[in-house]
Amino acid sequence: MLLKSLVGDVLQKSIKPVLAAGGPSIIACDDCASDQSGLIAPLDVCKSPLDLPAYDAVIGGNFKSAQVKLSEQQAQLAVVIAKSREVHIVASTKLYSTGRAPQLFAQIRQQLQSYDYGLPKVVWASPALVADLNRLRSDLTGRTDELDQFNARKTDHWKRFIEWIRYGLQVKASDIHVEVDGAHARIRFRVDGIMVPMQNDAHGDVLAQLARESIALAFNSISDAGTATGSNFNSNEFLENIVSVEVDGQKIKLRCDCIPTEDGFHFIARFSRNNQRYTYDSFGYEGWHRQLIQRAIASRRGMIVLAGIPGSGKTTAVQVMLEDLARNDTLKISSIDTPIEKKMAGIAQTLLPMDESDQEESQRLFNKAIQHWVRGNPDVMSLGEIRSVASGRAAIMMAEIGCLLFGTTHAHSCLGIFQRLISIGVDLYSLTAPGIMNLFIHQSLVPVLCNACKIPLAAMPSEIKNAMLGAGRRLDVCVDGMHYQASDRQCRQCMGTGIRGRTVVCEMIQHDAQLLDFILRRDLYGAEKYWRSNSDGRYDTLNFTGKSSFYHAFILAQRGLIAPDEVSKFGFFDDFPAPAPGEQIARVVAQ
Ligand SMILES: [Zn+2]
Repeated sequence: MLLKSLVGDVLQKSIKPVLAAGGPSIIACDDCASDQSGLIAPLDVCKSPLDLPAYDAVIGGNFKSAQVKLSEQQAQLAVVIAKSREVHIVASTKLYSTGRAPQLFAQIRQQLQSYDYGLPKVVWASPALVADLNRLRSDLTGRTDELDQFNARKTDHWKRFIEWIRYGLQVKASDIHVEVDGAHARIRFRVDGIMVPMQNDAHGDVLAQLARESIALAFNSISDAGTATGSNFNSNEFLENIVSVEVDGQKIKLRCDCIPTEDGFHFIARFSRNNQRYTYDSFGYEGWHRQLIQRAIASRRGMIVLAGIPGSGKTTAVQVMLEDLARNDTLKISSIDTPIEKKMAGIAQTLLPMDESDQEESQRLFNKAIQHWVRGNPDVMSLGEIRSVASGRAAIMMAEIGCLLFGTTHAHSCLGIFQRLISIGVDLYSLTAPGIMNLFIHQSLVPVLCNACKIPLAAMPSEIKNAMLGAGRRLDVCVDGMHYQASDRQCRQCMGTGIRGRTVVCEMIQHDAQLLDFILRRDLYGAEKYWRSNSDGRYDTLNFTGKSSFYHAFILAQRGLIAPDEVSKFGFFDDFPAPAPGEQIARVVAQ
């Protein structure tokens, strides 16, 4: 009777669909036998901890304190979990084919009779998940007297940590995120700015305790000397450290942070790209942009200001320019950093600790550093972000003493940089004086379509295709090379995101007297109109004089490098004027 009701539960949960499909009484699954006949319906198998019913204890398995004691062999096939009085037998799919399920379930049921639990239900799970649940309990209950056992567990945790790093390197992630929430943890990676779950059977989910122990190992055993904020891992505290490990012969440095949350914690490990060398090419600047940058740098004076949202690559772009200059041994180059993100050869980097809670002290330190550097007479100086009156004035002062000055700021466009500098209190007369302004750059990083799965315009629904062909005709460009982002979740090249890397979309202005005259009169509309009037008006030429970021983005879309939707973020196709008829300019879109 007992056996009958137990198996009844099993039938209800999982076996029923198999029988209903008219298949044989042999049960097949992904993990134990393939369904050659096609008669057997697919079963619900828990592969991730998230698929499991709620539980707060593992009460049955092969561990010391188990209420339901199982042999080592049995524990590979089933474990018992409970929440309050509700009990589930988590049975491995390996048990399907053995025919021993009823016997094992009966044995579990019998042992449960000694306790005050309800009737157990059965859920099927992947062998890996059953093993994890059993191992989790073994870990918690110790056996620390057995050194081999302990080392075996340590090796497991270590393997898991290395696996995350290896996976992160493989997908070219910028950081690893382990998000522990209650009983489960999710492993995700930031790839090209997008969060992507680890692609494995469990969709990146792992039991919280196992994730926690792998992270504890990273904090307690392998922190670089002096970088850990706590001697012991405690997920209730804000922690940070730097971990150096060797993975497949590659030395990896990770900057790790641990942030407590309501029901767990988030562990974020950022790959340090110290060895990664960026060049103008790796950014995706066009020849025209590069020429303008090189001209600006060659003049050796005035302000080069880069604007863009956080993550638009402006700091890295400044680094590329500084490193380029540092190859010239005859220059004195210095930079003020908060913090120093990358050590650069040939550049004197001054670290200014930024204390958000004490703005006055931060300001005092900044002013002091500037005073010393003015006396030090640098040829080239990088100030970091120009965000206060003090940093704005310092930038002008450096330019006035004949230094080539680099700075970054937040602005929505190239001409918006003027507005921003004026609004933080930079003196307009000083700003527009001859020789002070040099080059303004406004840039964004835009997702690049995955070559393996992107969809050509010709294969798009007719509504989208016709709209784009219409825009192409009106703006007199060929749109045949355009592509769209795929939603093919199977693509291994891009992990199903449709995106591989990012490229720069930018606008640059090198000022002339007329433009500065408009600025001096605070006529920003006049300045814009004047600047745009220098453009050749075409959407398929690589001369970007007078053109906004829209034109650059449109060129990239014509090459099929970025999606047309990304172009729309810089302006709508129907907002832009058709080019003037007349002299045909050679089309040079293709790279
Ligand atoms: Zn793809």
